[in-house]
Amino acid sequence: MSAKILIVEDEPAIQELLSFNVMQAGFQALRAEDAESAWQQIRDAVPDLILLDWMLPETSGVVLARQLRSDARTRDIPIIMLTARGDERDKILGLESGADDYITKPFSPRELMARIRAVLRRHMPVMPDETVAAGGLELSPASHRVTAKGATIELGPTEFRLLHFFMTHAERVYSRTQLLDQVWGTQVFVEERTVDVHIRRLRAALEPVEMDGLIQTVRGSGYRFSTH
Ligand code: CA
Repeated sequence: MSAKILIVEDEPAIQELLSFNVMQAGFQALRAEDAESAWQQIRDAVPDLILLDWMLPETSGVVLARQLRSDARTRDIPIIMLTARGDERDKILGLESGADDYITKPFSPRELMARIRAVLRRHMPVMPDETVAAGGLELSPASHRVTAKGATIELGPTEFRLLHFFMTHAERVYSRTQLLDQVWGTQVFVEERTVDVHIRRLRAALEPVEMDGLIQTVRGSGYRFSTH
């Protein structure tokens, strides 16, 4: 069964173009023109990835991304944000709203497909199934669950992979580039500061159980998971 990609885009011509390219690449295309119809589509079938336009009528793409991230059923669906805005602040805001990647309009279909494949690849369960424990955290790839002090920690898919990598490679320092290669996979489009955004999100998720200190910044080098 090929991956189902939900396209949320209000401009008919762009929606058509996206849908055409998605199907050409062998995926199934589902379409929605606003947040409400997106939720209708999701109720029918949970997609494998969502292409989400930033500028939507009524509920914006950023707001919808946040809603998707706060709903248990949709939390793990990877999101690629489509934006006409190129500036850095907006990119970061897009990522912080819960998107896994973003692409600026106008985009080339080739670049878009490369990003879709990259995002799908890193959401495929390639990690071994055994539960990992470190620093008081317990991470189970099989159930996609992280617990600490009896509480479940809610993580997005990228943070989950990042934490899994850290927990299985504790006490060693990794540069942003190394983390991109290890956690995101070797793809050319993701910028190094994306790592910082996900580190921030991971720490925020660990804060309620006072475990954010496990993820340490090593000035000039990168990051380290350490229980010391
Ligand atoms: Ca739009």
